[in-house]
Amino acid sequence: MTSRHLASSEATVVVVGGGLAGAQLVSALRDNGFAGNIVLVGDEAALPYQRPPLSKDYLTGRIGPEAIRLRGPEYYAANCVQVLTGDPAVRVLPSAHKVVLRSGTELRYDHLVLATGARNRSLPVPGAGLPGVVSLRTLAEAEVLRERLASAERLVVVGGGFVGMEVSSSASALGVQVSVIERHERVMARAVTPVTSEFFARAHRDRGVRLELGEGVARFLGSGAVTGVETSSGRRLPADLVLVGVGVTPNTDLAEEAGLQERDGVVVDALLRTSAPDISAIGDCARFPTPFAAAPVRLESVQNATDQARCVAARLTGDARPYRPVPWFWSRQAGARLQIAGLTDGHDRTVVRGDQDRGDFSVFCFRGDRLLGAESVGQPAAHMAVRRALEAGDQITPQELLDGSLVP
Ligand code: FAD
Repeated sequence: MTSRHLASSEATVVVVGGGLAGAQLVSALRDNGFAGNIVLVGDEAALPYQRPPLSKDYLTGRIGPEAIRLRGPEYYAANCVQVLTGDPAVRVLPSAHKVVLRSGTELRYDHLVLATGARNRSLPVPGAGLPGVVSLRTLAEAEVLRERLASAERLVVVGGGFVGMEVSSSASALGVQVSVIERHERVMARAVTPVTSEFFARAHRDRGVRLELGEGVARFLGSGAVTGVETSSGRRLPADLVLVGVGVTPNTDLAEEAGLQERDGVVVDALLRTSAPDISAIGDCARFPTPFAAAPVRLESVQNATDQARCVAARLTGDARPYRPVPWFWSRQAGARLQIAGLTDGHDRTVVRGDQDRGDFSVFCFRGDRLLGAESVGQPAAHMAVRRALEAGDQITPQELLDGSLVP
């Protein structure tokens, strides 16, 4: 495997995936003075844009498509970046250093970056294909959802993860009656502690959202269009719109077919190199080692997509360093902002500081005496303090928090 940098102005970097990671990589390469050719290949019609607003301000109509676009066409023209939209890569030929697009176009690369992101999982139950059963990942899907929400009376959201809960929040703010079906006993169960789940469950219920916890979906009802959802316990919830938000699968097909190592994500090393020479993978599609977890992880966050793009751009322009940034994440829903610093999986102790009733608290997660991370609601200073501590390798002990000698 190589970590050589591409000094020649004849060198070509092809980036597959015109999402956040791909777009950030392109701009970081140019910022670092890369003078070679850059081709950004996307399968969506739109130029790269930010996804987080799709479930928040874009859905409520507070902002439009211009506001979420990462860069305008003039940026790519001025920086000599060839952007191919609506033409997915269908094959990678590592030995020939080529990518083949659906249109038949063949692109030769000196370095290939896979930034193919993830796609929504579908729910294999009867009625899943009915009109009115929708999902949300792309701008095109957000447009459909936004349009349907304008006339919907009852929305059922299947899946109480981040996207499902954010959409619930936006839809209820638009006056739509919302029910959430979640198979776990609490919302966002895979990502946050019970304290944080409980806070958000209450905040959503206070806004009129119904939570059906510990329930699955047996089938979607309706003939011409969806009219409701039958839960696994046999209850029927009426709906004229259903959003399925049950998690994602990384887009690894290209990598797999090209013979690259894959394990629920394209496997990369600490420099974000795949098992093939001259191919890197970044963002939602990559599984990478990190000092903040015992085993390699795949993360779905803006921070990760952005920092991995910068890391690979730095390596390709002569500054190869292992990827080590502290993972962080945010969500905004039910009138509150959640910030998460670190990776808290595997914690065996929590210390809660602040006032949960006021939406002003942090949950610090420890394994033994080691701080793994923290969830903060309405406490940006605590969030930043934890990020800084994790970055510096400083320890904050449970005792220091209980003494009140540290934030908050
Ligand atoms: P993506 O943004 O998914 O981009 C990958 C692109 O590659 C897509 O356009 C895909 O269609 C394309 N592609 C796939 N295969 C091919 C192919 N063969 N050829 C060409 N193109 C291909 N993160 C946060 O940190 N905070 C939030 O609040 C937050 N909110 C979110 C809300 C929603 C509704 C969604 C969907 C995500 C949210 N995220 C949030 C997650 C965040 O947006 C992602 O982690 C981030 O977009 C990942 O960037 P990426 O470039 O790796 O993948």
